[in-house]
Amino acid sequence: MSLEAGGKNSTGWQNPENILCRGCGSQTSSSNFIISKLSPSSHYAFHDTLFNREMVLVQVVSHNIIFQFPVITTTQSTCQGYGEWQVDNSWFPGYRWKLCICPDCGEFEGWILESINPGSPESPDEVFCLVLTSVIGESFIDSLVKFPVDF
Ligand SMILES: [Zn+2]
Repeated sequence: MSLEAGGKNSTGWQNPENILCRGCGSQTSSSNFIISKLSPSSHYAFHDTLFNREMVLVQVVSHNIIFQFPVITTTQSTCQGYGEWQVDNSWFPGYRWKLCICPDCGEFEGWILESINPGSPESPDEVFCLVLTSVIGESFIDSLVKFPVDF
């Protein structure tokens, strides 16, 4: 395997990295699709270098008041909506949400949020909030010997 994590190619753009389901390793998303969409109800947020990309917005959101999750936001994912659409307690105004799970193994991966008014130029029709503890970068697989999977 080539070791390209953290590297930049000659154009200065970083190589996109596949984001995988931590349960089964199937592709969930790609660092190409990461966006910085800050929820007004996030507890805190910071930038980190993740999935071979700098300045990835990580925010901690709560679900059912008790549970807190560090999530990244993407515009595309293979994760599948589960259950009914909910409009209450949405992290993003104008969006309804569902849990989303891995279509291959059923692992909980995060949430899918869908715009109530799709087609708006300034906000994507769909936003995925992927839980950092449920996904893993493809290149991180190489370093599993050094880092335990669960943290
Ligand atoms: Zn899976």
